[in-house]
Amino acid sequence: MSDNRTPNRGGDNKNNGKMPKNTQNMMMFLVFLMVGFMLWNMVRTQYSSATTQEITYNEFLTMLEEDRVATVEDTGYTWEITLKEDEDSAYSVTYYTGKMDDDDLLPLMVEKGVEIIPYVQDTWSGVLWNILSILLPIVLLWVVFGVLMRRMGGAGGMMGVGKSKAKVYIEKETGVTFQDVAGEEEAKESLVEVVDFLHNPTKYTEIGAKLPKGALLVGPPGTGKTLLAKAVAGEAHVPFFSLAGSDFVEMFVGVGASRVRDLFEEAKKNAPCIVFIDEIDAIGKSRDSRLGGNDEREQTLNQLLAEMDGFESNQACIILAATNRPEVLDQALLRPGRFDRRIIVERPDLKGREDILKVHVKNVKLDETVDLGALALATSGAVGADLANMINEAAILAVKNGRKAISQKDLFNAMELVMMGKEKKNKILSEEERRIASYHEVGHALTTALQKDAEPVQKITIVPRTSGVLGYVLQTPEEEKNMMTQKEMEARLVTYMGGRAAEEIVFDSVTSGASNDIQQATRLARAMVTQYGMSKKFGLMNLESRESMYLDNGSVLNCSDATAAQVDAEIMRILGEAYEEAKRLLSENRECLDKISDFLIEKETITGKEFMEIFHQVRDSQSDYHQEELIFAE
Ligand code: ADP
Ligand code: MG
Ligand code: ZN
Repeated sequence: MSDNRTPNRGGDNKNNGKMPKNTQNMMMFLVFLMVGFMLWNMVRTQYSSATTQEITYNEFLTMLEEDRVATVEDTGYTWEITLKEDEDSAYSVTYYTGKMDDDDLLPLMVEKGVEIIPYVQDTWSGVLWNILSILLPIVLLWVVFGVLMRRMGGAGGMMGVGKSKAKVYIEKETGVTFQDVAGEEEAKESLVEVVDFLHNPTKYTEIGAKLPKGALLVGPPGTGKTLLAKAVAGEAHVPFFSLAGSDFVEMFVGVGASRVRDLFEEAKKNAPCIVFIDEIDAIGKSRDSRLGGNDEREQTLNQLLAEMDGFESNQACIILAATNRPEVLDQALLRPGRFDRRIIVERPDLKGREDILKVHVKNVKLDETVDLGALALATSGAVGADLANMINEAAILAVKNGRKAISQKDLFNAMELVMMGKEKKNKILSEEERRIASYHEVGHALTTALQKDAEPVQKITIVPRTSGVLGYVLQTPEEEKNMMTQKEMEARLVTYMGGRAAEEIVFDSVTSGASNDIQQATRLARAMVTQYGMSKKFGLMNLESRESMYLDNGSVLNCSDATAAQVDAEIMRILGEAYEEAKRLLSENRECLDKISDFLIEKETITGKEFMEIFHQVRDSQSDYHQEELIFAE
């Protein structure tokens, strides 16, 4: 999508990284003028210094006595002497000597008929000249420095700092419509209004309704926020100005503010239009943040606020902004009259994912095996960008295998590829490692099967992948879940522990292979204790709050250090119990574990069906055996 954005090269537009033409010409002229002046000055002083010569007072007197002196000029501190014999010559030498307190000199000069030029106080032009000769070199240096700076940093140099090189992208027509955005029905609904409003603002103003100024698109990365903004512009057939928040922030304080000013000036000229500020959290961070202030960012933000207020609401310009960190935004940005509408762009649900897949398969060839519904079911949690990527990878895979159309298998392989990385064909596991990897993965799957008695996995493989895993379990897609019960969470903890438990039971030693399981289990257990109020010890106390709604970048503890230590102990207890439970389940079903693992070691891959076949076979034979025992007992 982004490749059809063209940088703004409009003729009358000055946002293309250069200064306006006339300012530039002026600068060139000034530079030439000054260089010329300097050269001339240099030549002049060179020339004159070569033809002046200091002499002693005695020599001067001798010259006078010998009648050789033509003129004597008082320069204030010295006598400047020209000789009669040099008068006609082109290269006359001027002599000078210091002035002495000599009362006889004047009568002598008069007597000898010397032309005397007395000292005249500096006139204003002389003073000006002196000032200029000091000032001009400084100005010249400054200009040269500025030019250099611009060359090096590209940041606009010293003189052009404010003029934005900001990448304002303007698209007359984005060409994107709401049909290109799938699975975000609620968001689209809110935006339809905005489109209508750009189409005929008078409809609203006639009643006296104020037009909305801005809307904030909020949601996790890759859910289609940028795409939606473009679609609004595309639907309304208005120009689309876009700029990322980080474009505003520069080393020099005040640059961002002037860029905001430029952007809005340009937008006003082009109304109706859409101004889109992507990743607005780069400038819109709360001004009283814990992390300390930042002058530049604050000024930029203030300018933005001021510009938004200055917008006449009948100038049909709508400002859209996108962010995945709404909680850090300054309150002032969110108040009515600014970004008062908040449009949530959520992760797509099952139907949404299917719709997104449908949008993206429009331009690829599919064969008859393809079932997008199944893929949608298997990709729980994926966002639009992931799904678009999967389709593309599937197409590449199909080409690689010399097929003319994408098959369902390509799609699932692409999904694994996106999630797990490429298969490492030439990395061969040793016999021992294969055994351990098999038991580990079967341990995960079997604990799930035992707890749910349902097909736990789609498949298990022990082919190493570029992401570093030696094998993995592809979970069977479940119905879309929005909530998890405590029971389910506990079961999941046992599943996480299943891999390590199997290793311990079978090999009596453990490997490094469980690090990811441990990490995930710990995270879940921690959340159960600190956020979901699921531990009896702490009850319904919030001990930790998440930093961000849409990005999982950690959380902050809200409790004292002493409590934190107890929390850790509680988490340890939960994890320990889960591990014991996993060990119990697996040792009780050791036969199952062995049989399925043997199969996997031999074949490298086992499907969910094959898994369940073995599972039921073993169990049935066991229960037959138990029943026989019972019969005998009777
Ligand atoms: P965001 O700005 O939310 O991080 P983008 O709008 O840049 O995400 O989305 C990246 C790409 O992912 C889009 O160009 C599009 O191809 C695809 N995509 C994301 N969400 C959707 C969606 N809801 N429908 C169709 N395609 C989508
Ligand atoms: Mg984006
Ligand atoms: Zn594991």
